[in-house]
Amino acid sequence: MPKTNQVGKRNTAQRRAVLDVINQAHGPLTVGEVLDQAGKRIPNLGIATVYRTINLLLEAQQIRAVTLPDGQTRYESAELEHHHHFRCTRCNQVFDMEGCMLQMPPGTVLPGGFVVQDHELTILGTCPKCGDSRIATPRRSCSHAHAHARPRNFRPRNPRPRK
Ligand SMILES: [Zn+2]
Ligand SMILES: [Zn+2]
Repeated sequence: MPKTNQVGKRNTAQRRAVLDVINQAHGPLTVGEVLDQAGKRIPNLGIATVYRTINLLLEAQQIRAVTLPDGQTRYESAELEHHHHFRCTRCNQVFDMEGCMLQMPPGTVLPGGFVVQDHELTILGTCPKCGDSRIATPRRSCSHAHAHARPRNFRPRNPRPRK
């Protein structure tokens, strides 16, 4: 029946869109954020469908749930290696921080005989977009002319200080 086929195609497209959005994000996403972004690809995508698709992807172990101290559950690729999260307290977005800034691998024995299995770390602060431009990443001065790599959609905020 062509109608069943259409439904199957739509399900596959929804699943693909939700997975792509999660895999390509700068950090774990809430269900609402997944809906916003996947909705650009799938017309009339609803929140119930996003929940259902996320549950399928969790079961298939393609994504995992991340619950941060703010209590919100977010979702990220199951393939990511150990990393930490930075939550912007202004826009509430969460960003992945590469690598581990805590010297505490599994097996580390802490004073008193506590053996580390794993650790989680959530850093709070302001992201580059929300932060005070005066304390934004200092520009490296280069002696040669070249374009610095910029994150996608980078737009300098308040290029000149207002008086
Ligand atoms: Zn922010
Ligand atoms: Zn770590």
